[in-house]
Amino acid sequence: MKVFVTGGAGYIGSHTLIALLAAGHEVCVFDNYSNGSPVALARVRQLSNCDMEVVEGDICDEEALARAVADFAPDAVIHFAGLKAVGESNDIPLRYYRTNVTGSMNLLGAMDAAGCGRIVFSSSATVYGEAQYLPFDEVHPVAPTNPYGRTKAMAEQVIRDWTLTTPGASAVLLRYFNPVGAHESGRIGEDPQGIPNNLMPFVAQVAVGRRERLSIFGDDYDTRDGTGERDYIHVVDLAAAHLAALEFSGGVEGCEAINVGTGTSITVRELVDAYARACGRPIPFDIVPRRPGDVASSYAATDKAERLLGWKPKFDLDAMCLSSWRWQSDNPDGFPLAK
Ligand code: NAD
Ligand code: UDP
Repeated sequence: MKVFVTGGAGYIGSHTLIALLAAGHEVCVFDNYSNGSPVALARVRQLSNCDMEVVEGDICDEEALARAVADFAPDAVIHFAGLKAVGESNDIPLRYYRTNVTGSMNLLGAMDAAGCGRIVFSSSATVYGEAQYLPFDEVHPVAPTNPYGRTKAMAEQVIRDWTLTTPGASAVLLRYFNPVGAHESGRIGEDPQGIPNNLMPFVAQVAVGRRERLSIFGDDYDTRDGTGERDYIHVVDLAAAHLAALEFSGGVEGCEAINVGTGTSITVRELVDAYARACGRPIPFDIVPRRPGDVASSYAATDKAERLLGWKPKFDLDAMCLSSWRWQSDNPDGFPLAK
């Protein structure tokens, strides 16, 4: 199948490319490298021993995007491109709405013009907001608490309405929980710019000596050990979920939102302990006040993914930490700058 992948040079996109190429799909990546690296794409080519088309461009550039989609004439699209930092979305909300909502609308328009009616979209568990009950299932109310989450909820709504008015169209909205880890080769992984916002990349940078200490945001939550609980999902499992979603979308019409998590909650302390075991060194930390806006617990109901996609995660927390550590220790400064 011909698959057009926006944001394929990023963290989740690059891991999904490996799965797509291994399954024999023909791929075209569209990325502006604002948070992705051409080096990641070069390494994907090496690892998979396959080539792919790459177009450098911005999803906000409606014409360039439409041209790239029309030229490639895809059977399906996987839409990763977007901005993803919750904190930053409070400071520059318009950029977030423009990229995540208008960019998604540009993509749907380009797909319409090229006669492509299949999309798998990167959504987020952030769309649920405060838990009214746990685990989060897909019928939990959508009530995001920050601009980033609202852009994802709006893009979901736009895509849902598009399927209602586009004959034969099919969309899968994958609501990721907390993607972590890296490809087993250690050649690709998460390469955050500046200070990592997320827990595992921060822990990885402490382990490798790039940062001195981790700050644990609060140990007075109503959880097993007082620290926040999340549902961490190995990025390679997440990549496999995209393949399953792509296949599923071929046989149905309409729009489905599907959680992608393990259904297991892990506390910050548990993750830090597991990482220390994986890297064989202690992770120094301080307990500091809660981060504003953080919830105590978030984890997924996973039965819908299993039922509709026939997909189940394979990797546990130790595998997530080991693979992250392999990537971080082999690439302490992330990807080298592209020549
Ligand atoms: P990432 O930043 O590593 O990858 C995003 C890619 O999109 C990058 O290669 C970037 O260069 C590209 N991009 C950004 N803006 C673009 C634009 N305007 N035009 C073209 N390309 C553009 O992020 P990721 O972690 O791989 O996340 C991928 C998607 O999954 C995002 O939409 C994100 O919101 C969503 N998501 C991520 C997480 C997470 O924790 N990583 C959780 C839930 C949802
Ligand atoms: N966290 C932390 N220190 C950090 C980053 C995160 O203690 O430097 C905690 C955070 O409070 C939450 C968990 O780790 O309980 C996961 O945070 P992350 O930002 O990775 O994911 P999200 O909160 O978006 O689910």
